[in-house]
Amino acid sequence: MEYAVVIISIGHRNIDHIFHYGIPNRLRGLVKKGMRVIVPFGKGNRLIEGYVTDITDSIDIDAELIKEVSDICEDHPVISAKRIALAEWMKEKYYTTFSSCFRCIVPKRVNEKSFACIQLNSAYENISEAVDKVLKKDTKQKRVLEVLLNGDEIPVSHIKTLLDVDDGPINALIKKNVLVKKYVQEYRGNFNSALVDKTLPPKLTKEQEIAVAKICDTIDGNNKKPVLIHGVTGSGKTEVYIRAIEKVLSQGKEAIVLVPEISLTQQTVERFVSRFGSRVAVTHSRLSDGERYDQWTRALRKEISVMIGPRSAVFTPFEEPGIIIIDEEHEATYKSDQQSPKYDAREIAEKLSELYGCTVVLGSATPSVASYYKTQTGEYDLIEMNNRVNNTLPVIHITDMRREIAIKNFSVFGTELREAMAQNLQRNEQTILFLNRRGYSTFVSCRKCGYVMSCDNCNVNYTYHKGINRLSCHYCGKSISVPEVCPQCGSKYIKYFGAGTEKIEQEVLRLFPKARVLRMDMDTTKRKNSHQTILEDFRRGKADILIGTQMIAKGLDFPNVTLVGVVAADLSLNIGDYRSAENTYQLVSQVAGRAGRADKEGTVYIQTYSPDHYSIQYAARNNYKGFYNEEITFRQNMNYPPFTNIFLVMMTGENEYHIRRTLGCLADIMKRYNKNNMFTRLGPTPAVISKINNIYRWQIIVKCENEDKIRNYVLFCLDKLSKQISLDNINVGLYLNPSYIF
Ligand code: ADP
Ligand code: ZN
Ligand code: ZN
Repeated sequence: MEYAVVIISIGHRNIDHIFHYGIPNRLRGLVKKGMRVIVPFGKGNRLIEGYVTDITDSIDIDAELIKEVSDICEDHPVISAKRIALAEWMKEKYYTTFSSCFRCIVPKRVNEKSFACIQLNSAYENISEAVDKVLKKDTKQKRVLEVLLNGDEIPVSHIKTLLDVDDGPINALIKKNVLVKKYVQEYRGNFNSALVDKTLPPKLTKEQEIAVAKICDTIDGNNKKPVLIHGVTGSGKTEVYIRAIEKVLSQGKEAIVLVPEISLTQQTVERFVSRFGSRVAVTHSRLSDGERYDQWTRALRKEISVMIGPRSAVFTPFEEPGIIIIDEEHEATYKSDQQSPKYDAREIAEKLSELYGCTVVLGSATPSVASYYKTQTGEYDLIEMNNRVNNTLPVIHITDMRREIAIKNFSVFGTELREAMAQNLQRNEQTILFLNRRGYSTFVSCRKCGYVMSCDNCNVNYTYHKGINRLSCHYCGKSISVPEVCPQCGSKYIKYFGAGTEKIEQEVLRLFPKARVLRMDMDTTKRKNSHQTILEDFRRGKADILIGTQMIAKGLDFPNVTLVGVVAADLSLNIGDYRSAENTYQLVSQVAGRAGRADKEGTVYIQTYSPDHYSIQYAARNNYKGFYNEEITFRQNMNYPPFTNIFLVMMTGENEYHIRRTLGCLADIMKRYNKNNMFTRLGPTPAVISKINNIYRWQIIVKCENEDKIRNYVLFCLDKLSKQISLDNINVGLYLNPSYIF
């Protein structure tokens, strides 16, 4: 008897181990390692899905007790042996279950979609032979045959619309054995590459040549150290990626390109499609399950060889990935902090590199401090690209907004930016105004007593939405109308603070009534494709000024934009995250990089209340290394990552007392087992947002240099805790170096 070793796809820790199932005779030879199967499970023998991780002929359990595999889901394996190894590694690294790892690696099963086609029966040499033999008169059947080119498969629906006939003549011909009907799979979610013109490779710049040569060395060599490209915006990193991909494809291997979802624009995709044509596929979070399933199937079947997508595309099931490129590697979106497993696409890429020997290339104009640090310790190789391909970097000015207030300018625009905007309008050149929304809120407060309107389900301030004149909570969705008087003191003086994109738009229109303005933020991009429509309108010159948040900071390339205003650069400096300086540097540089992309020179105004802060000073001078040196010293002095690892244990639940008591017990256990004070512990403390939707949130933070030690320590202590206290009504979240502090 043969047995299948099966992982059940139920994400419960208690059953997250392997089970053995017998392979009945009718499935002999059909069940293979890596296949998805249906098995009976539990007392009621409920039929559920599982994955075959191995086939064996010996088991140490009584064979009588073994149940049998009921069926196979597909006739081919959906996960390779190497990716099963990846799942095993992920399970340990991200302390999660097998089945949640499989959920990342294998797409949800969806029925394939197919459409009916007809074709001339191969018994006939050609159409005229068929016409001669079968059809005497000029009938509908004859017309059907005439549109069929010899041998070709043609969709039935196509013929019906073309000839305006029903199924009658087609079915009659099938009955007469003149035509055969077959079903052809239709792939959902294909990128329409036919509409994209092919382009020829440009001659590389010196810097690009050096970069390509270095990456090709890595591709050919045995040393698979990841390569970090630190290249200023406009230095031509994409062309470097394309050349590296060409090299990999010429070896018969495949390429994965990760791009933050926000930069996954038509323009970005077309740059790859214009060179690789229909070998490129795209995935993104708005794909339906069927579309995702089909695109992954194409990758499995080797019908495509380049996949472009966000974080999750790292799991594209290529058989021989040769290169994984991670553009804008500093982006927080490469970490999944919301769903389990809380993986980091960069770490997955490195693991795949270990398993498949593929090359990992990270690229950014503003690398994360953690990645750049690795180039200094020798863990990564570094490539620097300091010059733009087409032109020079924009001139960046800092406006001290405190001085503007001193001269009684209370507008959101400093004098210089306002004058520059006026000039730009006159010259018919475009302007981008950027608002840093991180750490920013349009909160509403009472001018008399200082009371701030906040959501009573969540300990979060309400955000004011002018369009609907309501206050809404961005965490639970609750919305209320703006109170007429202060709920605390009854005063009528209620004031809206902060300057949202709407307020900036109003101010622009007040100053320049004739300006054509587009606004891009969460409110204007709710509808599908509205994101793209706004950008396309702006590109076509249908507006003079584009106002937006983080959404417009990335990857856009508009030749006619010569002015960029960063309306309030320092808002992200004040949010108690050890990375706030890094985030500010990145945002300011990225958005400044949108100016002067073509042959016209660009100008940038950075408005700030902290003009002396090093993150802003270095960003204005485009001096990443200066910034990095100052920041890394700060991290070292404060013992922050990358010099240490931070492990966050978050407990959430309805009963605040219960959570605090449980975390208190955990703290006691942690104290008891903290030998030689290897671990630093902070808390229990309330989380930054201490309540969401009436669920309380408390946390403990543990710091230690060694990642494995800290993970083992926390898991060990949690295990001890669960033996003392029931964790049934508490949700425990574990985060290693979370991408933001909660
Ligand atoms: P980055 O990704 O580094 O910001 P891009 O790849 O967007 O830079 O390149 C900037 C611009 O330069 C693009 O318009 C691109 O088409 C163009 N470009 C890149 N490499 C070359 C080259 N070798 N010759 C001419 N133009 C190039
Ligand atoms: Zn009040
Ligand atoms: Zn709320």
